[in-house]
Amino acid sequence: MNTENVIIIGSGPAGYTAAIYAARANLKPLMFEGLTPGGQLMITSDVENYPGFDEGITGPELMEVMRKQAQRFETRFITKDITRVDFSKRPFKVWEEDEKYQAQTVIITTGASAKWMGIDSEKKFMGKGVSACATCDGAFFKNKNVVVVGGGDSAMEEATFLTRFCPTVYLIHRREEFRASKIMQDRVLKNLKIKPLYNSVIEEIVGTNVVNGVRLKNVVDGKTSDLKVDGVFMAIGHSPNTKIFKDFIKTNETGYLLTKPGTTSTNIPGIFAAGDVQDHVYRQAVTAAGSGCMAALEAERFLEANH
Ligand code: NAP
Repeated sequence: MNTENVIIIGSGPAGYTAAIYAARANLKPLMFEGLTPGGQLMITSDVENYPGFDEGITGPELMEVMRKQAQRFETRFITKDITRVDFSKRPFKVWEEDEKYQAQTVIITTGASAKWMGIDSEKKFMGKGVSACATCDGAFFKNKNVVVVGGGDSAMEEATFLTRFCPTVYLIHRREEFRASKIMQDRVLKNLKIKPLYNSVIEEIVGTNVVNGVRLKNVVDGKTSDLKVDGVFMAIGHSPNTKIFKDFIKTNETGYLLTKPGTTSTNIPGIFAAGDVQDHVYRQAVTAAGSGCMAALEAERFLEANH
C-alpha cells in the first residue's frame, strides 16, 4: 500500500492553506475534503475581514480560490469523509468507509458545525422551516417573517442577510446584551426590519407540516407568548467535528482538539490539528488559514526529522 507523506482531513481555510504549503514543499498532499467541502465559509455571505480583499468576498468564492490555489500545486482531492482512523502507530491509517489509506503525517482540519437548541420540535421541522444557514435557505422565505436565534456575530450576520428577503426578522437572544462585535450589532440595530427580542428563548416551534410559529418564554418574568413566523434560523454557535479522533487525540472538555501552545502538534507526534477544530477562541478564516500554514510547516519538519 502506498504511504502518503501527508493526509489532510477536512477542507476550509485551514485545510486548503495546509494543502497549499504542503504541495509547494513537494509533499504531494492527499486531501479528504469531505462530502460538503469548504467548511463554514460555504454558508457565510460576505467576508469583509479576510485581508487581501478590499471590497470583501463571499465565503464560497474565497473557498473556491483557495481550493484552486491548492490544486495548482498538485494537491490531490477526494471529496469524501474519513469515517475511521487508527493513529496508534506510524504510518497512520485512515478509512473512507472500507477504503484504507495511510500516511506518515496527518493534518486534521475538520472544523466545527452548527449547534442546535436540542428541542424535539427543532428536529421535527428541520428542513421544513428550521435551518442553520440563512445563506443556503434564506431565499425560500421571500416575503415571509422569520426568527433568528443567537446573540453572536453569526446571528447578526444571518439576521442582516435575511432582511434581503423577509419583511420582519425577529432576533431572539437569551440575555439582555448581544455578544457580537460592535460593528455587527450596530448594523442590526440600525436595520428597521430587524426586531430584537432580548431575554427570550424558544420553548417550542409550532406548525403542522411546516413551521408557522414559535412559543417564546421571557426568562426574566417567565411569561410565554406566541409569534407567527414561517422560518427559524439557528445561530447559537458551533461544536468541533472531532468524534472520530477521540480515542487517539486529547481534547478539552468541549471536544476541541488540544494542541501544544504556539504549535499545531497534538499529543501524537506526526498528527497536527489546525483551524476551528482546535481553536474555540478566535475562530476566524484568517486565523484558521494561519494555523493551516503552521501545520504544513510542522509536518514538513517532522518528515525531515523522521524519515
Ligand atoms: P458565538 O459567538 O459563540 O455566539 C453564540 C450565541 O448564541 C451567543 O450569543 C449565545 O448566547 C447564544 N447561544 C448559545 N447557546 C444557546 C442556546 N442553547 N440557546 C439560545 N442561545 C444560545 O457564536 P457565533 O456567533 O457563531 O460566532 C463564532 C465566532 O465566529 C466568533 O468568534 C465570531 O466573531 C466569528 N464570526 C465572525 C463573523 C464575521 O466577522 N463576519 C461572522 C460570524 C461569526 P450568550 O451570549 O448568552 O452566550
